[in-house]
Amino acid sequence: MSESRIPTRALHQWVTDLWLAAGSTAQEAQLTADHLVGANLSGHDSHGVGMIPRYVLAWQANELQLNQRVSVLQDAGSLLSLDGNRGMGQAVTAQAMEMAIARAREHGVCVMGLRQSHHLGRVGHWAEQATAAGMISIHFVNVLSKPIVAPHGGYDARYGTNPFTIGVPMDGEAPLVLDFATSAIALGKVRVAHNKGVPVAAGSLLDAQGGPTTDAAVMYPPAGTPQGALRPFGEHKGHVLAVMCELLGAAVTGGHTIRPETLRHEHAVWNNMLAIVFDPARLGTSTSFGHEVAAFADWMKSARLQPGQHGIHLPGEPERACRAARAQQIAIDAGTLAQLDDAAARVADARASAHPAPGPLSALARG
Ligand code: NAD
Repeated sequence: MSESRIPTRALHQWVTDLWLAAGSTAQEAQLTADHLVGANLSGHDSHGVGMIPRYVLAWQANELQLNQRVSVLQDAGSLLSLDGNRGMGQAVTAQAMEMAIARAREHGVCVMGLRQSHHLGRVGHWAEQATAAGMISIHFVNVLSKPIVAPHGGYDARYGTNPFTIGVPMDGEAPLVLDFATSAIALGKVRVAHNKGVPVAAGSLLDAQGGPTTDAAVMYPPAGTPQGALRPFGEHKGHVLAVMCELLGAAVTGGHTIRPETLRHEHAVWNNMLAIVFDPARLGTSTSFGHEVAAFADWMKSARLQPGQHGIHLPGEPERACRAARAQQIAIDAGTLAQLDDAAARVADARASAHPAPGPLSALARG
């Protein structure tokens, strides 16, 4: 399927205009554009602007609530329990992380629970907010949306792609960011493969009868026919990490775990997140830390490469390389572009604010 190139700055402005037209404040529209375009820039198209059609549906269904602030449910100093009030994840999570970072500055550590956020996107973005403030952060997240991942040993989907993330700041260097879905691949990557009409990696998907397949279409069956399922990454290891994301991300934060009784919405993707944010300088290891990381990275990268491999990377390096490559323009496949044009038309029709809705994104495409 063909791709179109959109200038990165124009794409950011288009996303900002879309949410202003839907009624977001200037700050919320900008945070949302920063985050979604930032995910495309980082190479994670699965969590970039391609999520907008789903967000617009959730907003039109009165599930996603614009312009929310987090509520404090429990405040024990270094432990903070927050409710995102079904707000735009890109805005309420920024606020929640800001509060957690401030507490970690004060107490050395903050354990922060955020429940009921709308889709909080690329979790690495939140780890980067913490690392920019000099903090290490560890995130466990569950996903309240239609179950799409089969537990190890089963083939009925029972949970979401529950991401796990760690960010580590590096003095004078780019941070280390481990950030992945606990499914073999993120659903958004299946969506992108489906839109492009290409197969997904072997070992990632099961069809509706539990057989292995590379056909992304099993996740988008015709109405009334059963859906396939994603597999957890790394066999039982991804499965048990996903279980911990479910329990720490949701059960501990006062959010809901995924079950038929907790899935009464239609379009929204709710996330619950536990974030552990701490100041590594308080461990008194600042001097040795940078040296140890650099020395270990050199040693690790000296391993001989397997045939066809081009290098050995630290967590976060692929995203950084991608940001440099996409700084000027971002490629969007035709299927996603058509869905974004449709989302813009729906926002225009809603006439929700005085801000004019942007025209179709495809009008900005260059070849
Ligand atoms: P992925 O499989 O691309 O893995 C990314 C991680 O692996 C990064 O830390 C990256 O730096 C590292 N990495 C990638 N290639 C590497 C290499 N060759 N060598 C060393 N390190 C390498 O990520 P994914 O599972 O597709 O997840 C994509 C995004 O989806 C993440 O940002 C995640 O937070 C997000 N997500 C969000 C939700 C949600 O509900 N909000 C759910 C699932 C996933």
